[in-house]
Amino acid sequence: MSKDTPDTLFARLLHHYGHGLAPGDSVIPPIVPTAVYHLPGTPSQAPYQYGRFHNPTWEALEDTLGLLEGAETVLFPSGMAAIAAVMFASLKAGDRVLLPSDGYYTTRVLAERYLGQLGVTCDLRPTARFLEGSFEGYRLVFVETPSNPGLDICDIAAVAAATRKAGALLVADNTTMTPLGQQPLALGADVVVNADTKAINGHSDALMGHVSSRDASFCQALRDWRRYSGSTPGPFEAWQVFRGLETLEVRFARMCASAAALAARLADHKAVTALRYPGLPSHPGHAIARRQMATFGTMLTLTLADGAAADRFMAECPLVQPSTSFGGVRTCAERRDRWGDAVPPGFVRLSVGIEPTDALVASVVQTLDRLG
Ligand SMILES: *Cc1c(COP(=O)(O)O)cnc(C)c1O
Repeated sequence: MSKDTPDTLFARLLHHYGHGLAPGDSVIPPIVPTAVYHLPGTPSQAPYQYGRFHNPTWEALEDTLGLLEGAETVLFPSGMAAIAAVMFASLKAGDRVLLPSDGYYTTRVLAERYLGQLGVTCDLRPTARFLEGSFEGYRLVFVETPSNPGLDICDIAAVAAATRKAGALLVADNTTMTPLGQQPLALGADVVVNADTKAINGHSDALMGHVSSRDASFCQALRDWRRYSGSTPGPFEAWQVFRGLETLEVRFARMCASAAALAARLADHKAVTALRYPGLPSHPGHAIARRQMATFGTMLTLTLADGAAADRFMAECPLVQPSTSFGGVRTCAERRDRWGDAVPPGFVRLSVGIEPTDALVASVVQTLDRLG
């Protein structure tokens, strides 16, 4: 296991399910859409009892994702369901939580609105200055690096050391990087969450999320939460994500290469007033990114003259789909100002897809040339 490189690990992953098969089994995990299982006699003697407790299609995906994460993995029906499970399975009244002020907006709403009314206190801190404050007194600390949408970076290993000293659990939302781009558990985080809705499924056609941890009792608490709260993944969606995961490595490699090519080409384009990409030495977190990330990711942000210029860019570039979300096969973009993020109106988050790199770069450059 420790001899794996990312390449050998992913090669092994593609054959992992096949190694458990008996003659005549399908080489693809079957979709098992049942709500109930044949259950005579003593329930605890049956491997499956009821559809809310367990499902063979989830298990195939959990097992394969677990190999990639290097840790036990529990599946949830969306990224937010995974984050909610971490919070609700581990927090009680009087606890304090630290969240990035510039991370995924919905995580903050969930914590502030719903944990707040149960007596949990939430504090916010910007990702780029995460290490500047204390970690004393927190039960859970969340990081998201690069943060979504600003692409700020914090040093996961340094935050992990500080949270451990303070007795807090460190949870990393690794959605923007996937386990191929960054391994928070190896850097010292206690728990990693990922919205599989994004690059892991990769086809923008299913919602899913997972939590991974090397702490077996924490994973058991998550499974209990799933069973009792009814946060139940769909077997069909689990199968879709299994299928998407099989091509993650080739998709992610193309997406990262194209993001790097776009960043290099656009950094001094006259229509772009600011550009953020962790792979550029001008990014304030570049040195940390080089240390803790295997690649510089699939996203960049561009600031254009104003909201109208940004809207025109997205409307006129034939290879850019105006939509929210990221990690899909098609390059997409959106003005984050429309969701209330603290960014200028011309700020565009560009999520790079799997279009052939040269065609994508040419299309984006030609559109920006016309704006500029
Ligand atoms: C999309 C996203 C989520 C939530 O995932 P859903 O599947 O939409 O619930 C959580 N964290 C980050 C960083 C995301 O980008």
